[in-house]
Amino acid sequence: MNLDLRTMMVMISALSLLFSGLLALVGLHAGNIRGVRQWAAGSLYIGLGLAFSYTQLAPPANPWALVFGAALALVGAAFQYNGIQVFKTGQCNKYIPWLMAGLAFYQNIWFAVLYPDIHSRAIANSLLLCLINAASARALFMRLEQPLRTAYWFTGASFALLAGLFLVRAIFIFMLPANSYGLYSRIPLNPASFFIGSMAQMCIVFGFVLMLNYRLAADHQKMAATDALTGVMNRRSLEQEAARLLARCSRTGEPLAIMMIDVDHFKSINDRYGHQVGDEVLKRLTAIAQQSIRGDDYLARYGGEEFCILLPASLEKDACILADRLRQAFATTLIEFGGEVLCSTISIGIADSVHAGLEFSSLVVAADKAMYRAKRDGRNRVIMHSVHAYA
Ligand code: GH3
Ligand code: MG
Ligand code: MG
Repeated sequence: MNLDLRTMMVMISALSLLFSGLLALVGLHAGNIRGVRQWAAGSLYIGLGLAFSYTQLAPPANPWALVFGAALALVGAAFQYNGIQVFKTGQCNKYIPWLMAGLAFYQNIWFAVLYPDIHSRAIANSLLLCLINAASARALFMRLEQPLRTAYWFTGASFALLAGLFLVRAIFIFMLPANSYGLYSRIPLNPASFFIGSMAQMCIVFGFVLMLNYRLAADHQKMAATDALTGVMNRRSLEQEAARLLARCSRTGEPLAIMMIDVDHFKSINDRYGHQVGDEVLKRLTAIAQQSIRGDDYLARYGGEEFCILLPASLEKDACILADRLRQAFATTLIEFGGEVLCSTISIGIADSVHAGLEFSSLVVAADKAMYRAKRDGRNRVIMHSVHAYA
């Protein structure tokens, strides 16, 4: 491989420093996503480490430049690892960069200053870099949850490539005759490993940006689909889910039941106790409803103090059993907030696709009518649409 090592080293060192700035800028708008600052620090240390290593290109090298070069590159890789941990789990072991720094200083001072042995020093550095990059790859390959799976795979594969490269490098150097290795040695191993390493390092930074991009998009999608106060689906995503379920119903002939829930005299709760207590009532109702529904039912806040539950493969009478359980559970719950204790009730209207058809709007109209009937009949009750004749 006839590549110029000197130019490659300057390029990758400068690129790493630029990537560090890029990641720092990206981190400014990462919201509450953590780990980006560690990645920026990682790229900075790797760039500086490579700049120090430049001094090895012609003998005699300054031993302290060797020590600092290796230590900075290892600390940079450790920061990248910590960034991944924080990004994925919210936690990291902050002593890992210190541990890497300690190991790097210890072995590099030993082999570069006290008992100079470039051979052993290069093998030990390669093995340490192999270890930390393999740890990063492992952290990325673990818990490959959607929708970040592709970004984790891409970044993890780049780290695995880097780890593999350092292992191969250690083995190659080990097999060379003693004292014949140096970065200035004219062997294909040097330009080849620098070229592959530079590519992998670039892919890693692209991978970090990809991970961040996917996470931001997923967070925005989640925010657009959920209700901020209660954390359940909002009306928009309920309508999307309903369209999907109703299309399945028309294919399979399965029924779908719908429940409209409205808090009784909610305005007077707000007026008497304040909006914060009103909000707490809504949160309590959500929690009780979530406990009452089955795993494949969908609970959504339809608007204000109205909630909607979709029950796949259910008829009105099935929904009625669940609705009455929910009504009773809510009516017997004491809600305490800010020194106030109160009790509230709900009215529920039920409809199903067998009686109201396979249009979401007609299901909502039918369940709404039943719910208003429940209000007229005295509130705190469940009414099925098909039981009463509505005009
Ligand atoms: P009814 O028994 O007939 O349903 O009477 P109601 O008082 O519950 O009905 P109304 O529709 O008059 O009142 C709904 C109230 O819900 C009015 C509005 O201020 C309140 N509201 C809507 N959204 C929120 C919210 O997010 N938090 C709080 N605290 N109140 C809300
Ligand atoms: Mg209402
Ligand atoms: Mg109400």
